[in-house]
Amino acid sequence: MRTLTEWTALAQDISFRAQAWIDGEFRPSISGDTFPAINPATEELLVDVASCDTPDIDAAVVAARRVFKAGDWSRAAPAERKRVLLKLADLLEQHADEFALIDTLDMGKTISEMTAIDVPDAIDCLRWTAECIDKVYGEIAPTKPSTLGLITRHPVGVVGAITPWNYPLLMAMWKLAPALAAGNSVVLKPSEKASLSCLRFAELARDAGLPNGVLNVVPGFGHTAGKALALHMDVDALAFTGSTRVAGMLMQYAGQSNLKRVWIEAGGKSPLIVFEDCQNIEAAARGAAGAIFTNQGEVCIAGSRLYVQNSIREPFIEALKRFAGKYQPGNPLDPKVRMGPMVDKAQLDTVNRYVQSAIDEGGRIEHGGLSMPEGKGFFPTPTIITETHQAMTCVREEIFGPVLAVAGFDTEEEAIALANDSIYGLGASVWTDNLSRAHRVAGAIESGMVWVNGWGEGDTTMPFGGVKGSGNGRDKSLHALDKYSELKSVWISL
Ligand code: NAD
Repeated sequence: MRTLTEWTALAQDISFRAQAWIDGEFRPSISGDTFPAINPATEELLVDVASCDTPDIDAAVVAARRVFKAGDWSRAAPAERKRVLLKLADLLEQHADEFALIDTLDMGKTISEMTAIDVPDAIDCLRWTAECIDKVYGEIAPTKPSTLGLITRHPVGVVGAITPWNYPLLMAMWKLAPALAAGNSVVLKPSEKASLSCLRFAELARDAGLPNGVLNVVPGFGHTAGKALALHMDVDALAFTGSTRVAGMLMQYAGQSNLKRVWIEAGGKSPLIVFEDCQNIEAAARGAAGAIFTNQGEVCIAGSRLYVQNSIREPFIEALKRFAGKYQPGNPLDPKVRMGPMVDKAQLDTVNRYVQSAIDEGGRIEHGGLSMPEGKGFFPTPTIITETHQAMTCVREEIFGPVLAVAGFDTEEEAIALANDSIYGLGASVWTDNLSRAHRVAGAIESGMVWVNGWGEGDTTMPFGGVKGSGNGRDKSLHALDKYSELKSVWISL
């Protein structure tokens, strides 16, 4: 692992790609507009990024459709697509440190998380999905003997991907790997708060041999470039990761345009339930701290609601505070630092608003409090609030910051009811040594994912996604391919 001095030196030498990548080349936005990419740890300008809008999106969709129809990629043998994507995964691995550095500088995530999670997981997602694509078969239906019923899979066409800033490279990869492997063309609109790693990735895709126009990356704001992509009449599907509010807007845009499919991975307010029969309180407390403080709490599955059985509440909270103390915000380029700055001032202000609302609504600040960073950088204060109840704003709404709301419960039924009392249903974490209870509670919780005696475990082999206001469809695993392929039924009269 590199030292702080080495990462700092590398950061000084790095150069950014900041123009739109359309049809195999970098282009400024047609309007000439740009927006600044700011390092949230130093508040310094990294680079001015092309601020694209409808004409740029149109150009990208035209390129994507042209190559899709030509068939260079869409009708390439699956083994050929696998070969190119595996080469791309190798290139990404060769540039792993560069990608780790780009996202750390662009959005503030610690370099240790980038090198341990984001970059290796992105490589794994790409490699695993590429490996699968020449092993996916069609089906023959059990029709009557006078017919042959073939069920075949085909790429959807032009996929519009709209992604968030909290895992800039990784969230994009969860869309790009299955969409490209399945033979689609993609127009990716990364978050305006962190576009740089996706732009650099597009260049590597060209180097790996992806035909021009198959992958386009168009940076810009949501209400301009994002909306244009979502309303576009020649985009066949949208793959979205972001907030529940914007997800709803995309569904409306689809309804107002061509009924494109809308696949959503949205927000969360994930509960952690700790039962008194959990023997290893230390492990549970460490897990709970990691669940809310990892990546500054800017995690869709952040365990932001903690329900502890009342009989162990006091010792558990004491242990939790000890682990919380290990998350001291600092320079994200320092490999020893476990928490960086929030992505921008607006996100830090949002966190403060929620902490203040918790105080106003009767919560007790058990650890941390309002964030008042001295000097440069949008550094948050890791915070634990006790004496919370379900009506409080900090319990109901996604904060997307390092703020944990804690409440007690007496019975298993009560814990399940509290966990399910949310518009969201993304993840949940259950801590118990009772096997029957683990299965019972995991089955009863309304969420796409449940971790028993853990939190956040995941690799490409398991689907990721939620229910209720947290979305539809799934990223990762073979199930991700369902979003990016159409089934066709062909009847052959014999
Ligand atoms: P956001 O919804 O504000 O933005 C997401 C993307 O949508 C960005 O690229 C943005 O530019 C774009 N966008 C915004 N308005 C748009 C519009 N009107 N039309 C089209 N596009 C528009 O979300 P964010 O702040 O970037 O990310 C945080 C959210 O993402 C949180 O709610 C978090 O829970 C969620 N998230 C979910 C998952 C998951 O897998 N479920 C993973 C990561 C993040």
